[in-house]
Amino acid sequence: MAKTELDHVSKVFTERDGSKVVAVDDLSLSIDDGEFLVLVGPSGCGKSTTLRMIAGLETVTDGEIRLDGRVINDLPARDRDIAMVFQSYALYPHMSVRGNMSFGLEESTDLSDDEIRQRVDDAAETMEIEDLLDRAPSDLSGGQRQRVALGRAIVRDPAVFLLDEPLSNLDAKLRSQMRTELQRLQEDLGTTTIYVTHDQTEAMTMGDRIAILNDGRLQQVGTPLECYHEPRNRFVAGFVGEPAMNFFDTDLQDDALVGAGFEYPLSEGVRADVAGHDRLVLGVRPEDVELVAEPETDRDFPATVDVVEPMGDENQVHLRFGNGEDLQTNAEELIATVSGMRRVESGQQVAVRIPEETIHLFDRETGEALHNRELETAETAPPNV
Ligand code: ATP
Repeated sequence: MAKTELDHVSKVFTERDGSKVVAVDDLSLSIDDGEFLVLVGPSGCGKSTTLRMIAGLETVTDGEIRLDGRVINDLPARDRDIAMVFQSYALYPHMSVRGNMSFGLEESTDLSDDEIRQRVDDAAETMEIEDLLDRAPSDLSGGQRQRVALGRAIVRDPAVFLLDEPLSNLDAKLRSQMRTELQRLQEDLGTTTIYVTHDQTEAMTMGDRIAILNDGRLQQVGTPLECYHEPRNRFVAGFVGEPAMNFFDTDLQDDALVGAGFEYPLSEGVRADVAGHDRLVLGVRPEDVELVAEPETDRDFPATVDVVEPMGDENQVHLRFGNGEDLQTNAEELIATVSGMRRVESGQQVAVRIPEETIHLFDRETGEALHNRELETAETAPPNV
């Protein structure tokens, strides 16, 4: 177990033609001893490069990486006490499962053959792969290979686990099962874990905290719920959550936000939060948009149902502001998530209600969050919810 710190870490690759690619840009992150941190972001944002620098598979251009206070920038990978699991599993095809799991210990420790055998047996039991120890990797299913790759990491009892999209080759059902299993395993072992994924659902459900990267830069680090409800900027707000937050470009005119096809009044308190900014993006999560029969308040807007995606437990309803003759072709589209028991049909004329306590406001130029929705605290939430 070890505290892992990245202190203003950058990685610049130089292409063959001499041009530079900044893969990781001034990244500072501190991962506590025993913590499960998920590094998440879109493809190419620098997640794998970050992990590879921590593992020692990539040099650091600038900054420091520390393990329990000790700078490890120049320490060879094999001396770092870090185990990495790759998306491809990277099992040795010519070795049995037992061979794959023992190899690292034989190479890098002074353990006796008996001790190695015992450790492999224990790790195999943890991963429930005892029956597979004599098989070759080619005779295993994807899920089994994944277990072997994890078993090979566990057997080393490292200070830190680095997992690079380890579940992406599995089918949806197995992936969700392995998500829970991995969390349980990490809790039992208590090993500091950094888990890379581009899948925001994985990030939300697995991490103690998530660190969100874009273009090599850290956007926010926090608990999944902090990032969900109190995004620091528009990128985080749009990245976390499925379906994504609805965004509308608006201009603040007097005390209302004017967008394409709607005008949304702002109370004094919210106006105070955005003081000095008048080009704003209004954000609202699909589950916060309510569908009502008729506009009743000044935050209800006529809308027309475009498409309904039934998910079983809920319907994802795609709408457009306006109805009847007022339906403008340039009117903004939005998504509302409503109960699956509710019957909603394409073409239906409804009204959308956007409660002010649920809205987020961002500066249109910088994307900075100026106002986030108010969160009910645990104390004020009704009991047993
Ligand atoms: P993915 O989810 O697609 O794996 P990622 O977030 O892990 O993406 P990285 O693989 O870390 O992203 O890549 C970050 C950036 O650095 C990308 O622009 C990539 O093209 C670039 N990059 C990565 N490795 C190299 C390299 N060896 N030489 C040049 N550029 C590289």
